[in-house]
Amino acid sequence: MVGRPNVGKSTLVNRIIGRRQAVVEDKPGVTRDRVPYDAQWNGRRFTVVDTGGWEPDAKDRAAAIAAQAEIAVQTADVVIFVVDTMVGATDVDEKAVKMLRRSHKPVILVANKADNQAIEHEAVALWSLGLGEPFPISALHGRGSGDLLDAILAAV
Ligand code: GDP
Ligand code: MG
Repeated sequence: MVGRPNVGKSTLVNRIIGRRQAVVEDKPGVTRDRVPYDAQWNGRRFTVVDTGGWEPDAKDRAAAIAAQAEIAVQTADVVIFVVDTMVGATDVDEKAVKMLRRSHKPVILVANKADNQAIEHEAVALWSLGLGEPFPISALHGRGSGDLLDAILAAV
């Protein structure tokens, strides 16, 4: 689970594992390293790894967090790249996409915070990231998370 700070990675991790175990915070930078959680869907078991917010050209603590996120990418079977649909694709998101391309890993683009139909329509703009179809979901309310899990498991 990777993406810039505050897009809802930990909230989505909790949605997937069905427990509030990953730390959700309004402040960015709470998750420092890679935190694995056991999960299952349709009888298949897998590990979902929460990471801290990825930022380009980070320094000190932020650089360590970004490095951990990149290790998580290198060790993943499939990368869940989370963006904020309300905000749209940012420069940082585009730089993250370049990092993901270098990894040659399969990437699923999650358009999070699509809390209602109107915001869900904004997700089409995220095709511009070049990662294929964006999956609009609301990690907070659970909207779309079943379809996303089906797609994740189909990708591995
Ligand atoms: P992370 O830094 O990417 O792990 O983001 P968090 O999971 O800690 O969430 C950051 C903030 O976004 C928190 O206030 C969450 O409640 C909020 N958030 C996460 N998912 C959603 C969502 O689907 N909709 C809305 N409206 N807020 C969300
Ligand atoms: Mg987090």
